[in-house]
Amino acid sequence: MPESPEVDALVEELRARLAGRAITDVDVLEFRVTKTRARPPSSLVGERVTGATRHGKLVDLVFGEAHLVVSLGRHGWARWRDGDDAVGFDAPVTGADDADAGPAPALVTIEFDDGSALEFTDAGGWVSLGLSVVDDPAEVQAVAKLGPDPADPAFSRADFDRAVVGRRKQVKAVLQEQESLAGIGNAYSDEILHTAKISPVAHAAALTEAELDRLFDTTVGTITSAIEGRRGIPIDQLKAVKVAAMRVHGRAGETCPVCGDTIRDFSFASTTAQYCPTCQTNGEQLPLRE
Ligand SMILES: [Zn+2]
Repeated sequence: MPESPEVDALVEELRARLAGRAITDVDVLEFRVTKTRARPPSSLVGERVTGATRHGKLVDLVFGEAHLVVSLGRHGWARWRDGDDAVGFDAPVTGADDADAGPAPALVTIEFDDGSALEFTDAGGWVSLGLSVVDDPAEVQAVAKLGPDPADPAFSRADFDRAVVGRRKQVKAVLQEQESLAGIGNAYSDEILHTAKISPVAHAAALTEAELDRLFDTTVGTITSAIEGRRGIPIDQLKAVKVAAMRVHGRAGETCPVCGDTIRDFSFASTTAQYCPTCQTNGEQLPLRE
């Protein structure tokens, strides 16, 4: 799932490549991605891109007064098709809920007046990509509900405390909750908690003052340095760069770079996450559903 550092890099590339370009055609190959039926993406034909920005994990392609808000969901992403150079464009649909199973199918193709085309893809077994055309991004529920973004220079300790302190909820769940903190998902919450040496299943309300200090510093530090690290990486390489940068996430069975213990899986919500027992849980093993 793309999180704020990858979406930030995607948005920068969209801005650099598309600013000033006008849409010449929109092809929606999967009707379920259109969330604003009365105002489909094709209503933007003839409109010119004036900017691109990010709201949490959502992409906002700006056309003057109109916004195309793209929710990438679990397995959504974007790629370019230049002229007839359709890399992976005609690849068979795998249908597997596995982003590595092969080139993801394009569910939406947007063509521009320079002959280039932007495709939004979804590698999941069900469609989680969503496109909305609105006058105000806050018309999209997923944008309206967003909490403060730790990458925002204005993000303060008071913002963090409002989101976290006293919450009777596991701290990993709080970090990933978009209403509390915008942009963080399963991967970066694993990284943040490992660096902060805090158990992912500790209740936020039970954290000590020292733990809250560390968690604030590592939340801001992890996200801002990841954004810095992804800057300028072409969008077709971002996933690989993200995977390579992870210290614990996705690394079960490997050695913790801090203490040398073995990184382990545990079950969290509907997925699997990773932690280091020595660094984070005093050696205790967290439950893993097979
Ligand atoms: Zn460790």
